[in-house]
Amino acid sequence: MTIIKVTCPRCGDLDLQVWQLLARRSETSASYEFTCTVCEIDVVKDIDAPTFERLSKAGVRVVTDLGPMTHDYVAAATRYLRENDLLVADALTVES
Ligand SMILES: [Zn+2]
Repeated sequence: MTIIKVTCPRCGDLDLQVWQLLARRSETSASYEFTCTVCEIDVVKDIDAPTFERLSKAGVRVVTDLGPMTHDYVAAATRYLRENDLLVADALTVES
C-alpha cells in the first residue's frame, strides 16, 4: 500500500493512504486535499504539475476541472488508463 506523506497545519506530518487524498486539477492549477485523521480539519494544498502526476500515478483519486467532458475526452482518458494499466474494474461499475 502506497503511503503519502502530508502535513496538517495543526498536527504536523501524517502518513495517509492513497484513498484518503483527493487530487484536483484545473487548466491553471493543481491541488490536493485531505481530511486530517487526527483533528479532522479539511486541508487543501496547492501543488505543481509534477507533484500532481506523482499523486495520480500513486493511485490518488483525481478530479479534473478542464471544462465540460466530451466524448473525445472520455475516450482519450479511457485509452490513457488502459495503456498505463490503470483501469480498475471499480471505476467502470455503474450502479443501477
Ligand atoms: Zn490535524
